[in-house]
Amino acid sequence: PLPVLAIVGRPNVGKSTLVNRILGRREAVVQDVPGVTRDRVYYEANWAGRRFTIVDTGGWEVDVEGMDARVAEQAEIAVELADAVILVVDATVGMTNTDEAFVRVLRRTKKPVILAANKVDNARQEAEAYALWSLGLGEPHPVSAMHGRGSGDLLDAALDAL
Ligand code: GDP
Ligand code: MG
Repeated sequence: PLPVLAIVGRPNVGKSTLVNRILGRREAVVQDVPGVTRDRVYYEANWAGRRFTIVDTGGWEVDVEGMDARVAEQAEIAVELADAVILVVDATVGMTNTDEAFVRVLRRTKKPVILAANKVDNARQEAEAYALWSLGLGEPHPVSAMHGRGSGDLLDAALDAL
């Protein structure tokens, strides 16, 4: 079986956009309306000559009661099934309570966690990404899933961890 890389994070941070960037095709559903991805969608990916399975997560309703509990549950499932996890946060928004729910779960795992600070579309926004060192999840990787900026370095780090 191929190694499994799970992409987790709260709705609308750009998980599906990142999955499409990694796949090199538009297959994962990207929406301005959050919550369209089914709970977990699996794709076979290829990067730098390595094959692996990538899991796009999401699908839960936003702003429902108990959102953080639901998120924590999703994070736990992703950690269980994956060999490595990319946590995506929106660097332009910074940390929210929902992001914190992921961080709490992911800090406890022994599996590798790679922190992606997404929506860093230009160099000017990189400072916002580096503020995320404070999460205790290691080096934040500034990336623009939309434009591709930094995505190679992020993937290299993730594959090193797989
Ligand atoms: P998901 O809910 O985490 O899967 O997020 P999506 O991939 O569906 O993206 C949510 C919204 O963020 C969409 O409108 C995307 O076009 C936008 N988005 C995703 N990545 C980027 C990025 O790197 N930069 C910017 N500016 N927008 C992005
Ligand atoms: Mg999605």
